[in-house]
Amino acid sequence: MDKLVSLAKRRGFVFQSSEIYGGLGSVWDYGPLGVELKKNIKERWWRSMVHERQDIEGLDAAILMHPKVWEASGHVAGFTDPLVDCKHCKNRFRADDPRIKGTPGQPDAQCPVCGSKGTLTAPRQFNLMFKTFMGPVEEQAAVIYLRPETAQGIYVNYLNVQQSSRQKIPFGIAQIGKAFRNEITPGNFIFRTREFEQMEMQFFVKPGTENEWFERWRAERMKWVEGLGIRAEKLRWHQHGKDELAHYAKDAYDIQYEFPFGWQEFEGIHNRTDFDLSNHQKYAGKKLDYLDPKTNERFVPYVVETSAGADRTTLVVLCDAYREEEVRGGEAAEDGGGEQRVVLKLKPSLAPLKAAVFPLVNKDGMPELAHRIHDDLRRHFNVFYDDGGSIGRRYRRQDEAGTPYGITIDGQSTQDQTVTVRDRDTLKQDRVAADKLVDYLTQKLAG
Ligand code: ATP
Repeated sequence: MDKLVSLAKRRGFVFQSSEIYGGLGSVWDYGPLGVELKKNIKERWWRSMVHERQDIEGLDAAILMHPKVWEASGHVAGFTDPLVDCKHCKNRFRADDPRIKGTPGQPDAQCPVCGSKGTLTAPRQFNLMFKTFMGPVEEQAAVIYLRPETAQGIYVNYLNVQQSSRQKIPFGIAQIGKAFRNEITPGNFIFRTREFEQMEMQFFVKPGTENEWFERWRAERMKWVEGLGIRAEKLRWHQHGKDELAHYAKDAYDIQYEFPFGWQEFEGIHNRTDFDLSNHQKYAGKKLDYLDPKTNERFVPYVVETSAGADRTTLVVLCDAYREEEVRGGEAAEDGGGEQRVVLKLKPSLAPLKAAVFPLVNKDGMPELAHRIHDDLRRHFNVFYDDGGSIGRRYRRQDEAGTPYGITIDGQSTQDQTVTVRDRDTLKQDRVAADKLVDYLTQKLAG
């Protein structure tokens, strides 16, 4: 993991937030390559959820919502983690922290940081929502929350969306947006952070059909995840046991990935029943039922949710793509870049940069042609120009960035207007006519 974190910084994927001030706990910034990678993942999700389907509409609800939303949703009362404090060193832990020996609150419990015995308090519930104040007066009546999930913005708008788009149940609403949780044991890079992005879809169905839709969405979501190019043996399902289920869920499955720190969830499929809509109906005093135009029945829909973290999915993609390899034969010998390489084998359509353009040397007409090709390509793709250092070094830098194609303009290019295109994974080189590059790359980047 440390190697991935340092590559992420070196190549401009992810930086620690406020680094010059020593960093802010578990908050991260996306650099030039990271923002492209995450955007490509989000766009892929949006395309498959919203554009390619007739039965899902998009939404972008505000982060700040009426405080009653979070009472109705159960987050004020129930979105908590049990915590214990050490009275000696003042550190705070989740009660289920595996490093704690003994029972917190009892004399046998030992603090995992200072090692004192009997200093850990009994567990107390700690709410994970960030609070702030709306307006100039910092008083209880002005308290509002930063949303801990995007789903509630969808529930409170579901009739607005349904009526304006003339959708009929079953239909869904999809949203990508920021969420905030004051996590107690955050960590593992961008796996668990206090500010993150979710890609959530709520599918509204007729009561009684939710199990069938639940299974359909499980299959759909796994197919999408596999489409990111993730190795199948690194993916598995985990069904929540009774003690794991969130306060709103009747059934839940996580898609887990085998991270360097173990199997962990990065997407959940939840049967949320009519829990949220019924509670909003109660708290808001507004009817949220749906009139079925065919049968004239009225009902509060059941909801099947698919909830993925954009940051965690980005981490899955990065972890799965990271390889250290021996380079043998031609390239190792010819380019002087060394025989070891670190390469991100990202699916080409997800890669931040699609190609890099290299003039072999900075003379003999090569830079002029290379600039022309670069200008031409960047109207179609995100491409990079690099004329610094040996060609081997330049290849290695792009390997680390996950750039799938390296286009080299050499002596022959200025004679016959052809270039070499090096494939990041096979290291094979094709000779391609410069004016056919757009077609060549378009074909390679499909999928
Ligand atoms: P965990 O127990 O791992 O914190 P959760 O079960 O609370 O996750 P959900 O509430 O189901 O997670 O959220 C759905 C998705 O949102 C998760 O699968 C994950 O990808 C993402 N997510 C949740 N919390 C965080 C966080 N603190 N940092 C980054 N992503 C998160």
